[in-house]
This record gives sequence, C-alpha cells and structure tokens, in this order.
Amino acid sequence: MSDCIFCKIVAGEIPSRKVYEDEDILAFHDIKPAAPVHFLIIPKKHIPTLADATEEDIPVMGKIMTIAGQLARQEGCHDGFRTIVNTGRVGCQEVYHVHVHILGGDKPLGVML
Ligand code: 5GP
Ligand code: ZN
Repeated sequence: MSDCIFCKIVAGEIPSRKVYEDEDILAFHDIKPAAPVHFLIIPKKHIPTLADATEEDIPVMGKIMTIAGQLARQEGCHDGFRTIVNTGRVGCQEVYHVHVHILGGDKPLGVML
C-alpha cells in the first residue's frame, strides 16, 4: 500500500526506532508515546484492520501476540503491560495498518481506552 505510513516504515522509507524485526513482523517505538514504554508490533503485510484479518493471517497475528511479552520485557516492562488494538472508526483507529500497542513502565497505567 503506497500511501500507508506503516508500510513506508516497513520499507524503510520513513525512519523508526526499531524494537524487533524478522521476515514477518516489525516492532517500533510509537512516535507519540502514551506511557513510559510504548511500542507497536505490526505484520509486514498490509492488513488494514483486525477486522480484515483472514485465516491466512493466523500465523503472523499469532506471532505478534506470542512475541509481545518477550519484547515488552526487553523494553523494560518487568511487571506487566497493556496490549491494545484499535479497530475502525468506532475503535478510534488512526493508522489503517493493523498494529498492536504495547504500553508499560514501572507504575500501573490506570484506565486507558
Ligand atoms: P491507532 O490510533 O491507529 O491505534 O494508533 C496509531 C499510533 O501510531 C499512534 O499511537 C501514533 O502515535 C502512531 N504513529 C502514527 N504515525 C507514526 C509514525 O510515523 N511513526 C511512529 N513511530 N508512530 C506513528
Ligand atoms: Zn500498510
């Protein structure tokens, strides 16, 4: 998707502070952190929203969820973190390339919707 910010980050056309990368996924720090630790994990494939994921996306979405804990610990979340996926207009999604927010730090984050 040529007009997608996150596809441009995957392609290296827009810089990002990388947390992790492999052939299927990329994790990078959010440009506007909402917590002391705030990064995003995305599939390299352009999937607009969680509601657009299909059966063929099960491996990559599973990989994102199962690597989240390891990356969160690596970034300093030693006692838990929040995992948020905003979907569509009602979900207040801003960037239409599916992403999992990981938010954490030392202190409980309180309610964050
Ligand atoms: P959403 O509301 O779609 O779930 O969240 C999109 C997130 O992407 C926001 O937290 C926003 O700060 C982040 N974001 C938007 N543009 C960029 C960018 O160019 N680089 C990075 N690193 N994060 C971005
Ligand atoms: Zn994209």
